[in-house]
Amino acid sequence: MLTVLITSLLGTKALPKVIQLGGLFEYGDEVLQTAFRYAIDRVNADHSLLPNTRLSADVEQVEYQDSFQASRKVCDLLSHGMAAIFGPQSVEPRTTVRSTCEVLNVPHMETRWDFRIQLDNHTVNLFPFWKTLSKAYRDLIKSKSWKTFAIVYEENEALIRLEELLKDPLMREEQRKVLVKQIVPGQEYRKLLKEIGKAGVKNIIVDVPTEKIIDFLKHAKEVDMMSEYYNYFIASLDLHTIDLEEFQYVGTNISGFQLVDETAPDIGEILQGWRSNGLSYKNLKDKTYLKNITTEVALMHDAVKLLALALQELDRRKQDIDLPAVSCQTEQPWTQGNIVVNYMRMITTRGLTGEIRFDKFGFRSDFKMKLIELTREGLHYAGDWSTKEGINITSNTSKAFAGVKATLKNRTLVVTTLLNPPYVVLKEDQTLTGNDQFEGYCVDLIKEIAKELGFKYKFREVGDNTYGKKNTWGEWNGMIQELIEGKADLAVGDLTVTYEREDAVDFTMPFMNLGIGILFKKPTKKIPMLFSFLSPLSLEVWVYMVTAFLGVSLFLFIVARFSPYEWTNPHPCDPHPDTLENQFTLLNTLWFTVGSLLMQGCEVNPRLVTTHDQDSDIPTFKRMWNFMESARPSVFVESNFKGVERVKKGNYAFLMESTSIEYIVERNCDLMQIGGLLDSKGYGIATPPGSPYRTLLSSAILKLQESGTLQMLKQRWWKNKEKICIKEVTSQSVSASELGLDNVGGVFLVLTTGLCVAFIIVILEFIWKLRKVPDEERKPLCVELCRELKFAIMCGGDTKPVRKESNLRSNNLSLIQFSSLGNIDSKEIIS
Ligand code: GLU
Repeated sequence: MLTVLITSLLGTKALPKVIQLGGLFEYGDEVLQTAFRYAIDRVNADHSLLPNTRLSADVEQVEYQDSFQASRKVCDLLSHGMAAIFGPQSVEPRTTVRSTCEVLNVPHMETRWDFRIQLDNHTVNLFPFWKTLSKAYRDLIKSKSWKTFAIVYEENEALIRLEELLKDPLMREEQRKVLVKQIVPGQEYRKLLKEIGKAGVKNIIVDVPTEKIIDFLKHAKEVDMMSEYYNYFIASLDLHTIDLEEFQYVGTNISGFQLVDETAPDIGEILQGWRSNGLSYKNLKDKTYLKNITTEVALMHDAVKLLALALQELDRRKQDIDLPAVSCQTEQPWTQGNIVVNYMRMITTRGLTGEIRFDKFGFRSDFKMKLIELTREGLHYAGDWSTKEGINITSNTSKAFAGVKATLKNRTLVVTTLLNPPYVVLKEDQTLTGNDQFEGYCVDLIKEIAKELGFKYKFREVGDNTYGKKNTWGEWNGMIQELIEGKADLAVGDLTVTYEREDAVDFTMPFMNLGIGILFKKPTKKIPMLFSFLSPLSLEVWVYMVTAFLGVSLFLFIVARFSPYEWTNPHPCDPHPDTLENQFTLLNTLWFTVGSLLMQGCEVNPRLVTTHDQDSDIPTFKRMWNFMESARPSVFVESNFKGVERVKKGNYAFLMESTSIEYIVERNCDLMQIGGLLDSKGYGIATPPGSPYRTLLSSAILKLQESGTLQMLKQRWWKNKEKICIKEVTSQSVSASELGLDNVGGVFLVLTTGLCVAFIIVILEFIWKLRKVPDEERKPLCVELCRELKFAIMCGGDTKPVRKESNLRSNNLSLIQFSSLGNIDSKEIIS
C-alpha cells in the first residue's frame, strides 16, 4: 500500500540516466572491490534490467578500522549524490558509516555478520540473521548427538552466534558437557588444543576468523588431534574456500555450513568475469571455482543485484528518483532513500547465496545452507539446513563407509588387552616379542577381523591390569581409560558391554554371549545315615527349634490370656453371658504352633488384630547382595583366579561369567556350574568414542559369526585338549540325584515308633475308660479288647450304643444328659 501511495505521489517520471553507487573498501579488500565493480558491470550489460539507466561505481579506499577516515570519505561520496553506500567491512568504520547513512536517509548495503536485533531504517544487510544462523548451528550439533564438545572462539561475538545451542534445554536435560575456550588474538593454538585433548574432548566447534582456520587445523595435527576420532565443526561459512588437502586422508571429520550456492544461475560466467577483471586469489590452488567464492564476495554481488532489481521496480512503476548531493554538514536527508530501501526489502530473488528475501523486520531470516564434510575426495555435500525444514543430513553412507575402509587399510591399530585365559594369554616361549608373544581366543579373533578388513595391529597389555571402572569423580581406569585417552584404538578381551561403559566408549556388536553363573564344588559322596533326613538342619538347630516351639507356644498362651479378642462368648445366643471362654488352652496353643510349623494349619486361629506384610518387593539379587555384603569373612575376591581357588576349598559358591565357568569346569573336574544363568550379557570390542571403525568391526564380527569361525575359535580355546575331565564329567550326573531308602529310612522308623506309642496310649485310654463301666457290665480286659477289635475290623459304622458309667463327673456325655433334665448349671453339678 505504501508503495502504491508513494507511486501515486511521485507521478510517472523515470530514473536518472546515471545512478552512482558508493563503495568504501579497506586496503586489502581488492577482491571485494572487484566483485562490486563487476556486479555493476553485469547490471549495465543486462539491458533488460535498467534499459535507460547506467550504474556507476564511485569507490573510496579506507584504512582498516579507521572510523574517522571512513566518516570523512562517506561524506565525500554523499556529496556527489549516491543511491546507496556499500561497505566498509570492519566493525567500527562500518558503524560510523551506517549512522551517517541513517541520518541522511541513504541506503547502506551491508554484507557482514551483525548481532543487532533491530535494524536501522536505511540498512539492508544480506548476511543471514544471526539468530537464525545460531539455530542452524544448534540443529546441527544436536543432530550429531555429541555428549561432550568444546567451543573454541576468538571474537566475543562468537558466543552470541552459538547462543541458541548453549541455551538449548536439551543440553541440560541430556547433561552434555561443553568446554568453552577463548583464544586471545595472537595466542598459539597448540597449548589450547592440548588442554582440550587432555580433557578427553574429541568434538570441537571452531569459531575463528576464516583466514586462521588452516593454522588452527595444522596445529591440531601437530598435537595429534587430527585422527579419525576427532570431529571439527567450523562455524565460518567459508570452509569451502579453504584448502584442506593435507587433512583429507587423516580420517578426521571436518564439517561446516556453506551459504554460497554453486548451482546459482550464471555462477561460472560471474567467476570468469571476476578473473578477467583481475580478481586474483593468492595461495589458492584454484582447483575448483567454488573455492574462489567467499560468502562476503557472493553477498557483495547479490547486494548490487538487489539494488538493481529495486531500481528496476521503481523504473517499472515510473518513479521519479533524483539523486541530490547530500551534505553531512547541513544534515539535509535524501527524501527518497527510504523508498529504495523499502523496495529492496520487498524483493525476492535468487543470487549467489541462494534465495534472498527479508522478513518484516528487514532481516534475512529465511535462507538455506549446505552442510559440507571433508572426505578422502575433498569437501562433499552432506546435507542441508533451511529455516523451514531444519537440518537434513543426507551424507552418502556407503561412500563414507568405503572411505573409512580405505583409511583403515593403511592403519596399524593399537589393541589394548588384559591377560586372562583363554581370551588372551602369554605364550610359554619368553623369547618371543610383539604380537607373537600373545595367544588366545581374542588374539585369533583380532587376527581374523584384521584379515577381513585389511588393517595391521599391535597388541599391548593394559597398564593397570584392569578392565575399566568409573570412580566417584567419573574418571575411568583400565582399558576404557586407554581408549578415552587415545592410547589405544581397540580394547579386546572378556570385556563386558555395560550401559556405563557404553556411555564412555563405543562397543561393537558382541562376539560372545554369556551370563552370570554359579561355580561350585561338586559334593563328595558320603554313606547316608539312617537319620540323614534330619540333615537339612543341624542338631543345634533342631534343639533351637524345639525350644522355640515351646517358647512360642507359652508366649502365645500368655498373650492370648491378655488379648480381649480371645475371650469370647461361649453361648453366642446369650448376649449377656456371665462368663467368657478362651480357646487358647495350653494344649490348643501347642497344637496351633505345631500346625503352623508344619504349615498344615489348625482349627484354632488367633483373633488378634494383625498386620498384613505378605508385599515385600526386594528382589532375590538384592537379598543375595545384602547377604554377600554382610557375610564375614568377606565373600568377595580380587580376581577370578582367587575365586576359583576358594571354590576348590569347598563351602563357597562363586558368581562368575558363564563362559569362564565353562573354561574352568573343563579343566577342574571337581567343579561344576549350579543352575542356569542369572542374567545375559555379551563381550564386545571397545573403541574410542565416535570411532569410525566401529561399524566395520561389527560387520566383520557378524561375518565371522555367520561363517562359524567364532564357534570354531570357541571350540579351539575352550575344549580341554587332554579330554580327561570330559570323560569324568559325562560319567557323573551333575543333576540332583534322587533320595534313596538309605537317606529317608529314618522317617519310616520315626513313623513306626510313633504308631507304637499311639497304640500303647490308646490301650491305656481303653483300660482307663473300661474301669468306669459298672462291674456287672464289664467283661475281662482281653474279652473287651477282642470285642472292640472285632467292632473295628467289621467296620460296623460310626455309631455304637452308650455304656453306663459309674462316675458321672468324668463323663461329659452323661453330664449333658443330666443337665438337660432340669435347669441346672453344669458347673453346679460338677461342684
Ligand atoms: N567381563 C568382566 C568385565 O568386563 C571382567 C571379567 C570378570 O569379571 O569375570 O569387567
